[in-house]
Amino acid sequence: MNSPTTATPDIALPHQMFVHGQWIPSRSGATLPVFNPATGQPLVEVPDATLEDVNAAVCSAADTFRSAAWRRMPPVRREALLLRLADLLEEHADELAQLETLNNGKLLMYSRLMEVGASAQWLRYMAGWATKISGSTLDVSLPLPPDVRTQASTRRLPLGVVAAIIPWNFPLLMAVWKIAPALACGNTVVLKPAEETPLTALRLGELAFQAGLPAGALNVITGRGETCGDTLVRHPKVNKVAFTGSTEVGRIIGAACGHNLKPVSLELGGKSPVIVLPDCDPQKAAEGAAAAIFFNHGQVCTAGSRLYVHESIYDDVLNRLARIGESIVLGSGLDEGVQMGPMVSSKHHQNVLRHIRSGIEDGAELLCGGLEPPLAQGYFVKPTIFANRDKKDIRLLTQEVFGPVLVATPFSDIENVIGEANSSVYGLGASVWTNDLSAALRITDELEAGTVWINTHNMIDPNLPFGGFKDSGLGREHGAAAIDHYTDTRSLVIAY
Ligand code: NAP
Ligand code: MG
Repeated sequence: MNSPTTATPDIALPHQMFVHGQWIPSRSGATLPVFNPATGQPLVEVPDATLEDVNAAVCSAADTFRSAAWRRMPPVRREALLLRLADLLEEHADELAQLETLNNGKLLMYSRLMEVGASAQWLRYMAGWATKISGSTLDVSLPLPPDVRTQASTRRLPLGVVAAIIPWNFPLLMAVWKIAPALACGNTVVLKPAEETPLTALRLGELAFQAGLPAGALNVITGRGETCGDTLVRHPKVNKVAFTGSTEVGRIIGAACGHNLKPVSLELGGKSPVIVLPDCDPQKAAEGAAAAIFFNHGQVCTAGSRLYVHESIYDDVLNRLARIGESIVLGSGLDEGVQMGPMVSSKHHQNVLRHIRSGIEDGAELLCGGLEPPLAQGYFVKPTIFANRDKKDIRLLTQEVFGPVLVATPFSDIENVIGEANSSVYGLGASVWTNDLSAALRITDELEAGTVWINTHNMIDPNLPFGGFKDSGLGREHGAAAIDHYTDTRSLVIAY
């Protein structure tokens, strides 16, 4: 279960903010440390942006928006520049993947696939929207004098400066999920990555400028949420806020935007159920459930953290799952053969251990994993599975862990399991595992979740709307839904 840590790759680590086409320090000189979570050692210091720094970044984005260099650029040219940015990500794939793994801890393979690879795909998909934004032509409905004719139409216009605030679990991909549609629509962006993982976002800012985006179209600032993030959200020149993160912070940002009457989209937390029906092959169910919770070390907003298995195959599926959990090799994401890296930070590591402790205290049966540190250094947590055979009312069933911790509960009756699946305050994702399509669709009809998967989990696509019901958020990202997010409608009436 453990693997030695390889040497740090020899790559340049960004240490300044990228604003108006330039690397700049914080005006105050204050910095924040960035760590390697596989070793707990500091990597580099980045600026801790102050009010003045945030103001400079927002004013740059506002000036660029007003100058029309970006919003009035022919859409086909905007598309070409975003496609060029996608190419640049791939040209720098090795460097970006190493940077991400060093900073976030995820496996190098996933940094390549999910951060660089998927980000390039998202950029290409969204670049295509730049040339396809359309309004409609409408008839005026009220009676007009007989000699007056009208023609009415709508047009989708960019909003202005978008503030994008993102978490640390997919640092480059989350940045691209926000900037790609915002820029495709002609907005300018100020991006604030999470304190823990600013490095690839900073490089993204520089690469966007190198791709040919005008200075100020994408500014990347670093700092703390409660200071830099809060100032950004409340800045009068910010016209829209796009946030992904915790429900707790989502409420604060939503309240600020409500007060300032600013459009806001919120992608928040989750406690997604995985429901396994009695006909499902136990090995397929165990592998699917393991992937649903352990992918990205469980640091996924749609992680399948509540497993419900029909009682007739419950023991079989759980035995197989525990074997998978025990076999997972932990270590530095840079090392060959490693299957799971560390939690992102010391603070988050402690949070995840606190949740595991709550499962033990609440009387759930520990099948694998637990509190014991698997490695001598770094923020590692063993893949942990609890059986909740007696259906106790345990905290792990309701609280988001955001780590590799699963609680598995048996069920006998479909109506009951739908009720249990929906008992969470969250409603982001859910999956149903069965070959009985009719049963799967009947369950899907009842599930309170923004995305439901059948026989898969965590599959998210740039063409599919993504977001949450209930406390999992407001609005939908991706596809045509993203264009609605990042534009506003103007109606035009012509009398003739
Ligand atoms: P977080 O604490 O909510 O932080 C997210 C971002 O918000 C960070 O950049 C943070 O800055 C910033 N922030 C914190 N307080 C702020 C404030 N008062 N005003 C403005 N910005 C503020 O979340 P996290 O711990 O990074 O990420 C984990 C959470 O994100 C989980 O709940 C997870 O479910 C959710 N998530 C949701 C999705 C989705 O698509 N629905 C995807 C991924 C993650 P600092 O880094 O400085 O704190
Ligand atoms: Mg944070």
